[in-house]
Amino acid sequence: MLISLVVPCYNEQAVLRHFHRRVSDHVTAAPVVDSYEFLFVDDGSSDDTLAVLRELAARDARVRYLSLSRNFGKEAAMLAGLRGATGDAVVLMDADLQHPPELLSRMAELHRQGFDQVLARRTRTGDGLLRTATARLYYRLVNRFMDVELVDGVGDFRLLSRRAVDAVLSLTESNRFSKGLFAWIGFPSTTFGYENAAREYGTSKWRLSGLFEHGLNGVISFNTRPLRAALHLGLALLLGAAGYALWIVGSVLVSGVDTPGYATLIAVMTALAGVHMVMIAVVGEYVGRIFHEVKRRPHYVLKETHAETHAAPASPTEPPRSPSAAAKAAR
Ligand code: UDP
Ligand code: MG
Repeated sequence: MLISLVVPCYNEQAVLRHFHRRVSDHVTAAPVVDSYEFLFVDDGSSDDTLAVLRELAARDARVRYLSLSRNFGKEAAMLAGLRGATGDAVVLMDADLQHPPELLSRMAELHRQGFDQVLARRTRTGDGLLRTATARLYYRLVNRFMDVELVDGVGDFRLLSRRAVDAVLSLTESNRFSKGLFAWIGFPSTTFGYENAAREYGTSKWRLSGLFEHGLNGVISFNTRPLRAALHLGLALLLGAAGYALWIVGSVLVSGVDTPGYATLIAVMTALAGVHMVMIAVVGEYVGRIFHEVKRRPHYVLKETHAETHAAPASPTEPPRSPSAAAKAAR
């Protein structure tokens, strides 16, 4: 059984060699993993990540890599990796060693027992209070809104069987929210807990705005419930307004015309304008997504692959292509 380790890397030059060594050491020692390959995806790093990957690929035949033409984001990098992976099972792993390589054998073991998805769930010990609290809140919110169930702490560190990978790859949407996609495909899954290691090298690539964006993406790209919520809110407001109108008419009949009410009027008008804006924005989010989907752009552009590195010492067994054949191919 060949396990492909798909590793998205963005400016990870500091950690890649350690990562390669730690994983190789563990996997060679673990009897459950009989063969494995690395598939690194350089997500348009601006540091020497690509140079390190070339070096690793030249040194170790089990290392393959893809390099994207610019930073397309982790989702795109993971997709490129999943597409390129040839293994019978694929493990998605961060390059920063926050996903302990020691868990790989456990994952392979559970996969052997018949699970198509093996998810590592990190405990939140050692995380900041604020981050823990926001994560809790987010998951509670998201699970109310989404059709698929997300579990707090389950990230991208997981093993997928070949058929699970194929299922994920059959989903072609451009706005990819992997956590949701993985949950959507189903298949027998199992979860085990692990303690998250702190990042020892390099820095986290997430900023708060990015996390917010990612979170919003998760809610919006998975269902149309926000649109439904806008409908309900609109209906509730309409009912409220009708009640208020009745009350005004009633009070005029009982106690005569009463002109003051400027403040109420302004308050109601601005509040309603705000509500309208929000609803239009919700619709706009969906329209924007449709716009992105219909363009059908590829998720990423490749710049370089391992094939160049491995092919470098020209193999003597392959006959050189005749000039006419090359010309034919060019045409
Ligand atoms: N990553 C990536 N592209 C990006 C941002 C991150 O490929 O635009 C990779 C990064 O190199 C790492 C993984 O995604 O392997 C997780 O990133 P990071 O450790 O910064 O996130 P955190 O662990 O803080 O959530
Ligand atoms: Mg990390």
